[in-house]
Amino acid sequence: MYKITSADIQQHGLKATPQRLLMLKHIKKNKHISIEKLFKAVSAEFPSISLATVYKNIDALLSTGLIREVSIVGGKHVFEVAKGNHIHFVCTNCGNIVDILQPEKLVSDKVMKRLPGKAEAIELNIYGICDSCRHAD
Ligand SMILES: [Zn+2]
Ligand SMILES: [Zn+2]
Repeated sequence: MYKITSADIQQHGLKATPQRLLMLKHIKKNKHISIEKLFKAVSAEFPSISLATVYKNIDALLSTGLIREVSIVGGKHVFEVAKGNHIHFVCTNCGNIVDILQPEKLVSDKVMKRLPGKAEAIELNIYGICDSCRHAD
């Protein structure tokens, strides 16, 4: 995966502050991270940062399209570095979220043909119990 640099942030008209770079680093490292966990991770390296600042910077980063928000039914919203269109498998036991790439290949032609327009993105979460949870008992 590519490395996020100051230039990526500046390209979107935002200042590449240490807080923003640190937030991006942790979002990338954790793949999918809630705001609370992100705040904890960033605070560990940047103790003076406030939760309000993290929220403000999340909004700024969302507006650049560098990151995106994923809604989880019955769970917290998580943030991820934007990459190609993909869907998610969410384990309802441990909360692990796994990316499933190329969803357009998974959605059947029957569904695609019934759309009242042309598909541009597929947002889908599949909920279940992951293999490591299933084999834990
Ligand atoms: Zn699990
Ligand atoms: Zn994802």
